Amino acid sequence: MSAVVTRFAPSPTGSLHLGNARTAFFSWLWARRSGGRFILRIEDTDAERSRDEHRAALLDDLRWLGLDWDEGPDVGGPAAPYAQSERGAVYAELYARLERAGAAYPCYCTAEELELSRRLSRMAGQPPRYAGTCRALGSAERAQRERAGRRPTLRFAVPADAQVEFVDLVHGPQRFVAADIGDFIVRREDGTAAFFFCNAVDDSLMGVTHVLRGDDHLTNTPRQLLLLAALGLRAPAYGHVGLLVGADGAPLSKRHGSASVREFREHGYLGAALLNHLFRLGHAADAEIGWLERDQMPAHFRPEHLGRASARFEESQLVHWQKEALARLPAEAFGRWLGGDASPEFIELVRHNVVLPADAAPWRAVLAAEPPALDVEAAQVVADAGAPFFAAAAAAYEEAGADLKALARALAQRSGRKGAALYMPLRAALTGRTHGPELGPLLKLLTSESVRRRLARYA
Ligand code: GLU
Ligand code: ZN
Repeated sequence: MSAVVTRFAPSPTGSLHLGNARTAFFSWLWARRSGGRFILRIEDTDAERSRDEHRAALLDDLRWLGLDWDEGPDVGGPAAPYAQSERGAVYAELYARLERAGAAYPCYCTAEELELSRRLSRMAGQPPRYAGTCRALGSAERAQRERAGRRPTLRFAVPADAQVEFVDLVHGPQRFVAADIGDFIVRREDGTAAFFFCNAVDDSLMGVTHVLRGDDHLTNTPRQLLLLAALGLRAPAYGHVGLLVGADGAPLSKRHGSASVREFREHGYLGAALLNHLFRLGHAADAEIGWLERDQMPAHFRPEHLGRASARFEESQLVHWQKEALARLPAEAFGRWLGGDASPEFIELVRHNVVLPADAAPWRAVLAAEPPALDVEAAQVVADAGAPFFAAAAAAYEEAGADLKALARALAQRSGRKGAALYMPLRAALTGRTHGPELGPLLKLLTSESVRRRLARYA
């Protein structure tokens, strides 16, 4: 048995979408689970849309998530180079091979001609595929078009009787016939490699055995298999996973809030939280599995449990994993994550009450010199307790100080209240809210001046 080789093949045309990060992660899991290799390949033949800064950010976001690769543009490897923009020489040889075999031909159609042909097909109720116009051109006709200055694309000639059958790793058996597949472009007019071509041949040349990618590529697969067969290249197995959608069922996008890894990262989500969430998105993990460290994940990965239904991203589930991640973060790392110059006492105070660093702001405000305004619920609780309660609380504080137990005992004696009836108004007056961090540590963090002012206000 040869080793499992998987890959992630992003196009550096924007920031890393969470859905793409998910397929990258599944591919990584598969390789790591089987002791195989994981390759990073940059699909940047579209020079106009590809950007160096996107590429750098992509690598950075993948690493931040906790993924690593055995071969790639930054680490090299036996199939280098790993950026398609640098692989022109490899492709040139394969184009020549296709042309020699009569498996590809130059197409001189202009964009207008192609559009017209598409429209005619549509009107005739046929699928809008390439009509094959240039397939039958003789050498004289080609030469004439060349002389007229037309720059051809190179099209793959789909054999008329072609039938493609394959078993998708996720969707199961698939069958396509030539009539569904028009002759497609393998080299663009400007000489650069087209997606169908470089994506397929690089998977083969790089020894990729298992391709996981989004559902939107399922119908591309028969073209790619025909192409590889024509070149005598071994094809990988393909698996197409369901798309990532938002709560409304539409593809996850900025409209839903955050859609890129970078956005989640900037808001303060932790890579480990995202990984735990992604691990269960469209991958039916065993129900009893709780939090997993990155290195525990491959052993629990089940490729056969990848779903074809679209996976629904719910921020509440990410929040769940974020809390799990934060609970495991050492205090020092938590402080760095929180930002600002949080004291150890402040960190202890907010540790279990924040999901994102921004959530700490109200607690900084609670500790600020000026007491915070009461929110609606706190105002109600304070009114219900009444002035005598706060007069008693002020006196009890003078007697007992910042020790919450002692304070509660003294206040119980003076007010006749206990339990929530005692703690709730105290919390409301001190913090302006009816819920939040533990009162004990909070009381110690407030200056006595501040406590006196807050209690006196309602006495
Ligand atoms: N560059 C392609 C994309 O980002 C790769 C598709 C694939 O994984 O095969 O959509
Ligand atoms: Zn043509």
